[in-house]
Amino acid sequence: MVARRLPGMPEHDEVHPEEWQFDETVLRAASAFALCEEARYNDGLSSGQRVEKLMEAQGVIMATVGPRFRVTFRDLLNRLSGDQAGSLVGIFPDEALAGPLRNLRFLDSVGVSTQEGCDLLWEAAEIFKIVDKKQRRGERFTHFELESEFGQEQVFKAIKGGLYERHRRNIIEYPVCDKEQLEELGFPPAVAQVFYQDIPSYCLYKRQWWFGCPACAYPMQVIPHDDGRTYAVRCLYPWHQDTGARFSFTATRDQVPVLHAEDRIYIPSKAEMPLYTGASRETPKARPAEGYRALVRRVWRSTCIPGLPELRLADVLTEAAAGTRLTVEIWPDNDRVDIEVKDGDTVVFSIDVKDYTWPGTLAKKLIEDRGDKGGATWLVVPDHRRQQVGYLTSVIHRERIGMTVMAASDFLALFTDRLKEYM
Ligand SMILES: [Zn+2]
Repeated sequence: MVARRLPGMPEHDEVHPEEWQFDETVLRAASAFALCEEARYNDGLSSGQRVEKLMEAQGVIMATVGPRFRVTFRDLLNRLSGDQAGSLVGIFPDEALAGPLRNLRFLDSVGVSTQEGCDLLWEAAEIFKIVDKKQRRGERFTHFELESEFGQEQVFKAIKGGLYERHRRNIIEYPVCDKEQLEELGFPPAVAQVFYQDIPSYCLYKRQWWFGCPACAYPMQVIPHDDGRTYAVRCLYPWHQDTGARFSFTATRDQVPVLHAEDRIYIPSKAEMPLYTGASRETPKARPAEGYRALVRRVWRSTCIPGLPELRLADVLTEAAAGTRLTVEIWPDNDRVDIEVKDGDTVVFSIDVKDYTWPGTLAKKLIEDRGDKGGATWLVVPDHRRQQVGYLTSVIHRERIGMTVMAASDFLALFTDRLKEYM
């Protein structure tokens, strides 16, 4: 299929994917801040162990910036909360802070990892694993949780088999469930016991209450304001916040907290509507923490978050193709590609859906894999990643990779246009 040239696509030689890729030093810093979050929020640690974690984080940063640049324990403590939380400014040499790094925060004002920061680490970890396998340098990137039991590959491996589609759908649709539900879903033990854990303490109010996001159902973060009485509640995934998963409440003694929606209302355009997976207008009610289990954050981000637009796209394509010769299958053959559309035995569309925060990392993955490993020829990004299309398209052209990149709604329009050929 001929790649369609998109309006606004940069000329090939304008593309510098390197500017959006991060080297090992940045990833080390990211992993150091992940240790800081753990020091503060991992309930299983003693106070001695918390200090050890912070010292380990300081060690990682010092090793990263080198002997020329001294980073004290105080420097690190100053970056655990408040305005400068998780900032590299002042602990990284100035010349190393080009582009998006200057304003990036790895921790938010209360010391919880930001999603941009987590994604920088997790997305890069998946790529380094590919590079590492090729170059057989297994021991190099251990800091970055390369062998994390919560990586995307581990999740998909744990559900491989005859019930793959059912399990994957359930992980996406039930990122949090009570113990009975968890049993009813019938996951393999590795999924139920490893990927579902206690709700993170930073998503609880008084260790007792939590609120599910009106877009993804995952527990939202609960952030105390300085006044000690009011709280902000928001989904950890920024786009869900932007579309309405932002609330507040005032603490009341012994009463169940009641959320109030913030004024801002996001209304998807008519074209976006069929594939919209942002926040609904519903205001969630508080639920008791007791008895609930939630996906580990990294599993939620790598499976549930990209899974919602993926499932929606498959469902909408299936509906659109009704009455034609086309059949739509999600994750055929245990996830060879994300979505496959066929006319009899002939593949018409083979689709890879990607929700990356850092497009440079995705570009690197496409280059390493020479496109999609499963042979997909369409790369579809959710509509809220539309601004990545031009950049990714130019990388693909420059590298002569046989894929076409589109935002989901544009792909749906093209698909609908082509349907008459298959009546
Ligand atoms: Zn959400």
